[in-house]
Amino acid sequence: MGEFELIRHYFAAAACARAGGDVVLGIGDDCALLNIPAGEQLAVSTDTLVAGVHFPDSCDAALLAQRALAVSTSDLAAMGATPIGFTLALTLPAADSTWLAAFAGGLEIMAARCNMRLIGGDTTRGPLSMTLTVFGRVPSGQALLRSGAHVGDLLCVGGPLGAAAGALPLVLGEQQDIGEDALALLDSYWSPQPQLELGQALRGKATAALDISDGLLADCGHIAAASGVRLCIEEQRVPLSEALVQWIGQERAMQCGLTGGDDYVLAFTLPTDELPGLQADGWPVQVIGRVEPGDGVCLLDAGGNTLAVGKQGYNHFSA
Ligand code: ADP
Ligand code: MG
Repeated sequence: MGEFELIRHYFAAAACARAGGDVVLGIGDDCALLNIPAGEQLAVSTDTLVAGVHFPDSCDAALLAQRALAVSTSDLAAMGATPIGFTLALTLPAADSTWLAAFAGGLEIMAARCNMRLIGGDTTRGPLSMTLTVFGRVPSGQALLRSGAHVGDLLCVGGPLGAAAGALPLVLGEQQDIGEDALALLDSYWSPQPQLELGQALRGKATAALDISDGLLADCGHIAAASGVRLCIEEQRVPLSEALVQWIGQERAMQCGLTGGDDYVLAFTLPTDELPGLQADGWPVQVIGRVEPGDGVCLLDAGGNTLAVGKQGYNHFSA
């Protein structure tokens, strides 16, 4: 199968590659064309995943595609942006039709879930890797930045943490357990759900936001640095994945929740008077701490001890 036939068969023909919405022209020309409504800004983010670095060489192609698109789209959620579409630059060792069909199928599932359209890309031969660039739109001036947290704001997260990190031994095949809890964890890893609606609901309300990809402590450090404040987290208030607690116990689950990455749950700061309205509307907003004067991140443990968290995150102070 040649390059053009491959593109046509697996990507241009996909349901998610149809033009529509803000996509005026999709795959097939030299560029895609997007409509950005007046008064809105274009939000753009790109992510590369390399086999053997970001995912195991032999993983399921459908799951890989789902995860790649979810992880990239999560950056739009973190900005409060509405998804428009994405490009896919794919480097493949071979044109393996079974692999490509599975990959395209996984992409289709996550694109439908995120209301994303495939608008173009590039296809090359080489060691397996992929670069996805996502495009979204956000009302001018309303994007959720990392830099707006104020002293006195609440620190919140959009849901339970730790599941994806807890799944890593299963993903890497270091551990085999196909019980219900293990399956739930694997699903969290391979099919994270970008919190797009929550991000949009936080526009004009949250003062800073990001999606947790490197771990709660490390990512809160990014908000603290960008905003010039200190974020204090109360360990007891950090919501943990129930399946994870069932599987490895409270203490190890907390380690995953604080330092494990890959959950793609939103973390954000919120003026106290915005909390009741968001909770009344049913948004999954969980308060885990506060914004204080100073810098960095601190963790209040169950015993009331304050642990300063270094720039390298949890490892730094546990050493
Ligand atoms: P060009 O040489 O102009 O860059 P290509 O031959 O690389 O064009 O691609 C032809 C068309 O197919 C373009 O519209 C491009 O965006 C699209 N395309 C190529 N690879 C992919 C892919 N992996 N996924 C989606 N679209 C692709
Ligand atoms: Mg090209």
